[in-house]
Amino acid sequence: MMLAVREQADLRTYNSLGITEKAERLAEVGSDKELRLALDMARRNGWPVTVLGGGSNVVIAGPLRGLVVAMRSRGRKVLQRSAGSVLIEAEAGESWHDLVNWTLDLELFGLENLSLIPGTLGAAPVQNIGAYGVELQDVFHSLDALDRDSGEIRQFDRKACDFAYRESVFKRLPGRYVILRVRLQLRRQGSIRVDYAPLDRAWEATGLQRPDPRVVAALVCQIRRSKLPDPAQLGNAGSFFKNPLVTAHQLDALKTLYPGIPHYLQPDGRYKVAAGWLIEQSGWKGVREGNVGVHALQALVLVNHGGARGDDILSLAARIKEDVQHRFGLLLEMEPQRLG
Ligand SMILES: Cc1cc2nc3c(=O)[nH]c(=O)nc-3n(C[C@H](O)[C@H](O)[C@H](O)COP(=O)(O)OP(=O)(O)OC[C@H]3O[C@@H](n4cnc5c(N)ncnc54)[C@H](O)[C@@H]3O)c2cc1C
Repeated sequence: MMLAVREQADLRTYNSLGITEKAERLAEVGSDKELRLALDMARRNGWPVTVLGGGSNVVIAGPLRGLVVAMRSRGRKVLQRSAGSVLIEAEAGESWHDLVNWTLDLELFGLENLSLIPGTLGAAPVQNIGAYGVELQDVFHSLDALDRDSGEIRQFDRKACDFAYRESVFKRLPGRYVILRVRLQLRRQGSIRVDYAPLDRAWEATGLQRPDPRVVAALVCQIRRSKLPDPAQLGNAGSFFKNPLVTAHQLDALKTLYPGIPHYLQPDGRYKVAAGWLIEQSGWKGVREGNVGVHALQALVLVNHGGARGDDILSLAARIKEDVQHRFGLLLEMEPQRLG
């Protein structure tokens, strides 16, 4: 079996920020077998390996040495049906949004709030993707991952993934595991989650009484399109910073100075403070500097106006971070992974 390996591959179409950098070598892998071939080849030659899905959560800040492995495995199926739920399984290279649509066609509840998030299924557990009050961990069942240290395939249940807000064991140990396929447990009936303000209002306006995940998905898509730039038109990596978590005590102190500060109570008793609001209050919304800038409708999104380098994005991010820390005493943490 032969694996196609391209040399000096242009990565511009492999990352949603649209940054032009080279991969020393790049292989697209469509199966476990091809992945093993690629990893064996890298090991024999001493090449460092970078795994990429859709490249929608990375900042490529220099040429990538060694071998870039782009996950392109496809396939999805229903594994098990019971009275209340359905267990599905899909391969890592599947498009996340296509998978969401497939589950909606099967009339399943669970993924509707996570509609229109770019990227692949295999990357979804890495940062426990989330939107509109729902996170991947809410529907997660288990996954198979290749342990690059032992060469063995290991199964992870929810506990083993150690999910947290935009975190997991896979993000904490970058490069150690390659996620091969993921299983999700979805509900056949039930309730919908529309407790996030814009979604709540949009759902109310429909006047519908019966929960309908397809309607919720359509509303989520509408809201997202109205304020998030489409990477095909304007390069971006979605939210560039995580929302900082603060204690009730810290929040009280912030509220005395900034009574309007948006905050959301978390299950652990802490509060998420809206990073977009902090950046906007610091005067960065809509600012453009050369090829990079802060999106005019959503201050949490940094954009490539064309021809930007990863370092341009990172230096803008560093200045925003410094400014927010100076004004609010809060440390913003970058959400995408820096590569290169
Ligand atoms: C417009 C826009 C909106 C977004 N909105 C959201 C949102 O609402 N919520 C949210 O959570 N995220 C959001 N994101 C971020 C991004 O879509 C998600 O993080 C997505 O899961 C990334 O998938 P990907 O395939 O593009 O991953 P990549 O960017 O290719 O990779 C991300 C990380 O995961 C690793 N990785 C990828 N595939 C695998 C694998 N199979 N096994 C092991 N490691 C792997 C990579 O090495 C890298 O470290 C948004 C991004 C954009 C551009």
